[in-house]
Amino acid sequence: KLYNQVQDLKGNIRVYCRVRPFLGGHSNRPSTVDRIDEGNMSIVTPSKYGKEGRKSFSFNKVFGPSATQGEVFSDTQPLIRSVLDGYNVCIFAYGQTGSGKTYTMSGPTELTEDTLGVNYRALSDLFILSQQRKQTISYDISVQMLEIYNDQIRDLLVTDSTNRRYPFSQNGINVPDACLVPVSSTSDVINLMNLGQKNRAVSSTAMNDRSSRSHSCLTVHVQGRDLTSGATLRGCMHLVDLAGSERVDKSEVIGDRLKEAQHINKSLSALGDVISSLAQKNAHVPYRNSKLTQLLQDSLGGQAKTLMFVHISPEPEALGETLSTLKFAERVS
Ligand code: ADP
Ligand code: MG
Repeated sequence: KLYNQVQDLKGNIRVYCRVRPFLGGHSNRPSTVDRIDEGNMSIVTPSKYGKEGRKSFSFNKVFGPSATQGEVFSDTQPLIRSVLDGYNVCIFAYGQTGSGKTYTMSGPTELTEDTLGVNYRALSDLFILSQQRKQTISYDISVQMLEIYNDQIRDLLVTDSTNRRYPFSQNGINVPDACLVPVSSTSDVINLMNLGQKNRAVSSTAMNDRSSRSHSCLTVHVQGRDLTSGATLRGCMHLVDLAGSERVDKSEVIGDRLKEAQHINKSLSALGDVISSLAQKNAHVPYRNSKLTQLLQDSLGGQAKTLMFVHISPEPEALGETLSTLKFAERVS
């Protein structure tokens, strides 16, 4: 009981902001982000957007353009430990397309040891920690990889490319038939992530770069058995690379693109509604408004822990999206 109260005081929702560097050697260009100090940052708003000046924002932590993957992960690490203690955890990457979501979660296309993302580091930590505890607790770790596109869920770990779609159970929480693959080493995980990426790419030939318009969710299930008492515990962790949050001008897109945009819009605002009502400790939490929030219901709220990485591009051209991303982040923090 006391433990629960302590948890409450610390808060189970954390919001980190990450500002990506300029790409392609443009680091001398003026950035919209001009000051970063621990959890505080300010954005320069040039006069053409109204009154010239600065807008300040505060989060649990702000990572500037020079923050390394290792630094970003080290603030995430305590959450990984709690999964092995039986907690459910959600880690989200939010931001406009090109702001660095996939970089944070998976890393760049050409991976090196230094640039490995949160997904890989999290799993690698789970293996190390579970090994350290093996005298007392025996852990089984398995993963699922799903994609949500236009409110349809697809299994990214099927090997027969049947593209199965999953109906939801009555309370809309889990996807019972999705492949759940046991893993015991980081190389198992790399192989699965590659398979998932490949399955994702198969469908993107028809629609260009679908990955930025779907949510991808790597879920890690952990089951532990106490070797002396026989008691079991379960924890799970969802690592979610969200669809791009940019607004699409309705007058410029039609058909499939418009439908996609509406689904993305609806699911991201449903996610924002859920997290902000959890942050405000509202009695009613509107989980049912999207597949994304239904899928994650068990891991949002209650004792579960949530970490939201919001991503910002430094370019002045991105200012409009940057401000709307920061507004979203403020609402959920
Ligand atoms: P998103 O997934 O949000 O669309 P990406 O992760 O694909 O964006 O990032 C866009 C580009 O910027 C990629 O080429 C990526 O490698 C690069 N990038 C993003 N974040 C960083 C960073 N922190 N450091 C270096 N390069 C980055
Ligand atoms: Mg991406």
